[in-house]
Formats: sequence, structure tokens, C-alpha cells
Amino acid sequence: MAPQQWTATVPPTVSSPQPRVELPQYAFPNKMGRIFLLALEEELGRNGLRAVLRLARLARFEDNYPPANFEPEIAFEEVSGLLVAIDELYGPRGGRMISLRAGRASFKYGLHDFGGLVSFADLAFRLMPLSLRVRLGLEVLAEILNRYSDQQVQLSQEGDNYFWRVSRCGLCGERSTTLPACSLMVGLLQEALCWVSGGKLFDVEEIACVAMGDEQCITRIGKQPSAALGTEYA
Ligand SMILES: [Zn+2]
Repeated sequence: MAPQQWTATVPPTVSSPQPRVELPQYAFPNKMGRIFLLALEEELGRNGLRAVLRLARLARFEDNYPPANFEPEIAFEEVSGLLVAIDELYGPRGGRMISLRAGRASFKYGLHDFGGLVSFADLAFRLMPLSLRVRLGLEVLAEILNRYSDQQVQLSQEGDNYFWRVSRCGLCGERSTTLPACSLMVGLLQEALCWVSGGKLFDVEEIACVAMGDEQCITRIGKQPSAALGTEYA
């Protein structure tokens, strides 16, 4: 008997796999994204933040903030996109002020979340001279960003100033602005220094920004508290 001919069967249709969640190239950990959104909600209110998230095409975060873990899932582009949306809705100057204030509020939430990793609150720290507390505060903040996010910070000093240099910036990489765009970082630094100094104000000013075409984002920080309110502190 002639062998039966079998026609090749049509391969079963494979249901397309769930799209793999690609981790972004450069990212902040979920915990930092969460802190940032909580801080923004404090500034804009829940409805204001919703509008910003929709404009930035980040509706997935509406009423659903990232979990408080260290997975590197918040892409740099998402954060800078959110800042662009804030500028679009509130104008460049309004947007700048909102990110500055959100940066300050981020420190408050961050201290709650990251404070346990550092010994800021212990007595030895509080007994140190102010100049040392300022330097250590900046070093610890830079270390947290370098260790837990892809944002790269180097600190240097010259004369009466520290310089906070960010070569890979998660706030402004994709942006193009005429004013320095990283006021969120300025606010964070202001509040950190206010906290380590027991309520003093420091002169903190972004003097170069990738969004303006500079190679790095550079923020100048006065080593001594400023007598008057800094121009940006409102
Ligand atoms: Zn910048």
C-alpha cells in the first residue's frame, strides 16, 4: 500500500506573547519616580497632575504611582517629558517655579524613603560644624543618585562655591530650552541644605544646562548660607 501522503499541517497559530517589558536605557528607580509624583501632586493637586500626565502620555501613572522599590523602570525620557508637559501647561516661568517647589517637596518625601540609608539624623552629624554638614549633605545626595539611578553626579569646589556637575541628566536630556531646565534639582538641593543646616538658606543656581546646549548641567552652590533669600527661593 502506497504510503499515505501527509500534507504539512499549518503550524498552529501562536498567540502573540505579551510584549516584553524592556527596561529603559537610563532610568530612575520606581521609588524616585514615586517620590517625584507625590511631590508634584502636592504642588498641582490631583487633577492638575492628571492633566500633566495625560499631556505627557503617561496616563498609566494616573492614580497609580510606581511602587516604592528600586527597579529601574522610570525612564529619563518620561521624567523630562513630564517636565516639558508642565512647561506647556503653565508656561516656562510657571513651570520652572512648579518644578523648583516639587524639587523641595521631593526632598521631604525622599528623606522619609532614603533617610534610613544615611545617618543624617544622628547626633554626631548634628554636632558637626555647619561647613562639614553642608559638604557631607551634598556628598550623600550625590552618592544616592549615583548609586540608585543612572543620573551621574560629580562634586567639585572652587573658592566659595561647590559645583554639582551632572554629565548624564535625567531631567533635561531630551529638552531644548532658553532657561536652565533643571530647577527640580535646584529645589532638591536648596531643601537638602536647608535641612542639614537647621533652616538656613543657600544660594543655589544652575549655571549651565544640557537643555540649553551645554555639555553638562552645572549647579553652583554657595558654601556659606546666604544672608538674603536666594533669587530662586520664593
Ligand atoms: Zn539641566
